[in-house]
This record gives sequence, C-alpha cells and structure tokens, in this order.
Amino acid sequence: MTDKVVVITGGSRGIGRATALAAAARGYRIVVGYASNQGAANEVVAAIEAKNGKAIAVKCDVGSEQDILALFKAADGFGTLGALVNNAGIVGKSGVRVDEMSAERIQQMMAVNVTGSILCAREAVKRMSTKHGGKGGVIVNLSSVAAKLGAPNTYVDYAASKGAIDSFTIGLGYEVAAEGIRVAGIRPGLIDTDIHAAGGEPDRAHRLAHMVPMKRVGTADEIANAIVWLISDEASYVTSAILDVSGGR
Ligand code: NAP
Repeated sequence: MTDKVVVITGGSRGIGRATALAAAARGYRIVVGYASNQGAANEVVAAIEAKNGKAIAVKCDVGSEQDILALFKAADGFGTLGALVNNAGIVGKSGVRVDEMSAERIQQMMAVNVTGSILCAREAVKRMSTKHGGKGGVIVNLSSVAAKLGAPNTYVDYAASKGAIDSFTIGLGYEVAAEGIRVAGIRPGLIDTDIHAAGGEPDRAHRLAHMVPMKRVGTADEIANAIVWLISDEASYVTSAILDVSGGR
C-alpha cells in the first residue's frame, strides 16, 4: 500500500499539511490539494522531496466540482490511488447565532465541508472500488467534536456540516465495505491551527483549553498520526467508525 497515492484536500496547512508529511514519511506518494495558498502547498512538497519523498501540489477548491475532477485527474497521472483524506474544511465567523446567519454563509459551509467531501469520495470510490476494477483503499473524513457538541453561539452551521460528515462516514462505509474500501472519520477537538483565526478568533483553542479533560490543545501532528494509522493496514478491520482525537473533549 505505501507506494500508493494519497490525496489530501487542504494539504497545504494545518492538519492536512501534518498528514502529508506523516504519510510521505511512511512512503506514500502525496497529492497536496490547496485552495489558494500555492506557496504553502509548494513548501509542503519541497519538505517531502527534501526527504526523498514524492509529492505534487494541485489547486483544488473543493467547492468546485471541476476542481475536484482536475485533482483526481492529476492524481491518476501520479500513480494508483490508495487513500483519500477529506480534510479541507472551513468555519464561518465565530459567535454568529443561527438567527443571524445569511443563506450565503450556510450554503458555502455545506458546499465546502459536505458536498466537497462527498464529491471527492465519489471520485475515490470510482477508482478504488473492486466493483469498478480498483484494488481497494481507504477514505478518512475529517469531522469535529463540534458534531457532538453543536457549537451553540459559536458556529452551529459548522457543527451541522460535521454531523453530516459523521453520517456520511457511516453510510458510505457500509456501502463500499465489501468492495475493498474502508471509510473512517476523525473528530478532532481543539487543535492549534490557523482555522481559529479564519473564524476571527486566533486564540480560540488556547482560550478554551481549560475545558478539555487533558487541559491542553492538541497538535496537528496528533491528528495526522491517527489519520496515517487509519489509512494503514494496521487498521484493516476498521470501517464505518469515527475516532475522537480530542483529549477527552
Ligand atoms: P486550516 O489550518 O484552516 O487549514 C485549512 C486547509 O484547508 C488549508 O490547506 C486550506 O488551503 C484548505 N482549504 C480551505 N478552504 C478550502 C476549500 N474551499 N477547498 C479546498 N481546500 C480548502 O484548517 P485545519 O484546522 O487544519 O482543519 C482541517 C480539518 O480539520 C477541517 O475539516 C476542520 O474542520 C477539521 N477540524 C479542525 C479542528 C481544529 O481545531 N483545528 C477541530 C476539528 C476539526 P489554503 O492553504 O490554500 O488556504
């Protein structure tokens, strides 16, 4: 499996970046998807190549079906697909109640976090399912503990998008379980990445760290380690399962 291609959406920064580096260190060929930060994506590729790994960067806004098709076309030219990490995700501005949310915000949230993940999975299943002549593979979906907590007064739309991801993980897992594909989800807790700044609250993870049973934020590497385990053969009997990596939150 380790010579196979792993497609990581949003592989340029945060959890996706850490996953790209961790998977490359295990020998996988990495397709680093990115939305707009080409410099960050190129830096991830350079870091992988500096350690004799193989990686390419491909621009892919998962809100665009055309971009997703181009991402998988590029992956086809790079080798045999072994895994998809549906990592790209956004938050809206933090602290906005549902009764204040615009339709545009909610539609964008669902287009990126939900539709984007489902469309990427569709392309991965077409390539990996034994039903379609593929050799099997793994799909890991990034959810969030927000799916369980609901994120009231913070971003309920985001929490709802991750709830959808949890249902998708379970359902798709059952659908393709007999076709050589495992599907798993990860629910990270408060992880120290740029996503909190994107929601307008750069310090959010650290501010709330006291509410975590382990009393600290998590690192992108701690999520990446769980992802590379899930895509490895060591997790060969794990499917339709969702793992909390959240310090107990
Ligand atoms: P991040 O630091 O904000 O990085 C986001 C990554 O996704 C970047 O590589 C970015 O690309 C890419 N991206 C953003 N919008 C995109 C789009 N429309 N299409 C494709 N790629 C896009 O995020 P993160 O914290 O690593 O989060 C990664 C995943 O974990 C997300 O699904 C998030 O919901 C989930 N998660 C994070 C936390 C946390 O505390 N950090 C907790 C629970 C769940 P550019 O570099 O090009 O902008």
